[in-house]
Amino acid sequence: MLSRMYQFGPHTITESQVFFKSKYSLGLVNLKPITPGHVLVISRRVVPRLRDLNTEEATDMMLSAQKIGNVVEKQYQCTSLTNVIQDGPQAGQTVPHVHMHVIPRKVGDWANNDDIYDELAEKNKIRVDNEERMPRSEQEMKQEADMLRPFFEDNNT
Ligand code: AMP
Repeated sequence: MLSRMYQFGPHTITESQVFFKSKYSLGLVNLKPITPGHVLVISRRVVPRLRDLNTEEATDMMLSAQKIGNVVEKQYQCTSLTNVIQDGPQAGQTVPHVHMHVIPRKVGDWANNDDIYDELAEKNKIRVDNEERMPRSEQEMKQEADMLRPFFEDNNT
């Protein structure tokens, strides 16, 4: 059977990367997560900015982020979440399709709490520890999505 494809800005996303579906949003695993469990909530409609979403879509994105955050925080043994929308290129957005980063956090994950924003800004460059963040393989992303999908049985139609 042919795998369904989705658009994330200019990128084509395969079904195997999607672990969550609601009426107006999708949950995707990340090609270059900055920490384990760093996932994305995207609108189903390909529009660049938060302001482009209508009320139902914006509400759905927030409720989806809430559900997804609850699961990734627990599954990655974390105790907080950084939920971020980089809304426009000057705010650090590199993919012109509105999306929220859901990033599990725990004590000591970054030396200074707000360093996470530097790391998000540097996401396609070199890590603080000087290791380049390589894109993950499809297989690696599929494994993570397969692990997360069962937690969202009502959100996978
Ligand atoms: P931003 O810079 O806020 O637009 O974030 C873009 C996010 O999309 C980063 O976390 C990237 O790692 C992620 N990303 C880019 N391309 C893909 C892709 N093909 N699949 C999944 N995540 C992606």
